[in-house]
Amino acid sequence: MRHPVIAGNWKMYKTIAEAVRFIDVLKPKVASANHCEVVVAPPFTALKAVAEAARSSNIQVAAQDVSWEKEGAFTGDVSASMLREAGCTHVIIGHSERRQYHHETDERVNRKLKAALAGDLTPIVCVGETLEEREAGRTQAVLERQFTEGFAALTAQDFSRIIIAYEPVWAIGTGRTATPEIAAESHRALRSLIVKQFGGEVAEQTRILYGGSVKPDNIQGLMAQEEIDGALVGGASLKADSFSAIVNYL
Ligand code: PEP
Repeated sequence: MRHPVIAGNWKMYKTIAEAVRFIDVLKPKVASANHCEVVVAPPFTALKAVAEAARSSNIQVAAQDVSWEKEGAFTGDVSASMLREAGCTHVIIGHSERRQYHHETDERVNRKLKAALAGDLTPIVCVGETLEEREAGRTQAVLERQFTEGFAALTAQDFSRIIIAYEPVWAIGTGRTATPEIAAESHRALRSLIVKQFGGEVAEQTRILYGGSVKPDNIQGLMAQEEIDGALVGGASLKADSFSAIVNYL
């Protein structure tokens, strides 16, 4: 039985003060959520303050990106050990906005996720096709490329520490959610790629989250799919009421 994960990606929203206030409000609303892991991903500036505000609660903290280097002359980058020191347990890697605006390639995703693993962070690796790719019937091929190149040269043991987020780009921030059946079909495709590369046992335990316009009113339908092991939530994670309603989907 896979333990679900509900993760909120705050993108470039919330000052430190807003982020801490949010955690104070969220904490009691999700305190009895033992059925899933709860993760929030604030901007870099608020990570430490959020980790401190969330201490002794069931809320874990993720960064939204990580450098593949340990340290050095890489202006603007932040290393895995710095994130760990700030209180992060997880890091989102390869989000479509980073692929689109920051030239994040599968090869870079691969290097970043290895750095995250080496730095004792749990990578939440995003994959997913654009609308154009879906309409051209290339969804499966795109997922296969992202998987093969993004997860290249990993041992099964390394891979077992990774969470995948299937996020069809056409569903992110558009209000257009993939139907639970469409999402489950891609999750199944991803799981068979895991079977091929890392074996059935690892595939069976890998959490694959769905992301793309997840809201309180569609989370139950998504979570009813056996293949869907949680959600990566953008817009609806910015308000404590909607995020806690998603966390408490049962
Ligand atoms: C995301 O940013 O990962 C996301 C899924 O956003 P939204 O929920 O707003 O579509």
